[in-house]
Amino acid sequence: MSIEKKNIKKKWNLENIEHIKEYNKNYYKNNKKALDYYHKNKDLINETKKEKMTCICGSSFNKHMKIRHEKSIKHNNYID
Ligand SMILES: [Zn+2]
Repeated sequence: MSIEKKNIKKKWNLENIEHIKEYNKNYYKNNKKALDYYHKNKDLINETKKEKMTCICGSSFNKHMKIRHEKSIKHNNYID
């Protein structure tokens, strides 16, 4: 990176430092919420993940694989 570019970035950072701080704070807060949710519902989430289900196409898979399965060739061949 050229010195000129570095200076521009430095200047930008200085001008936006409050904004960046705020952004980081919010990011942490939002992440914390998600983490809290995960910890409170860990067992439930794990149980749900383990649950098996059978699709209309005849495949069986774990519930958390549903979205991936619905994109699979086998499933889409059945739908078509
Ligand atoms: Zn399917």
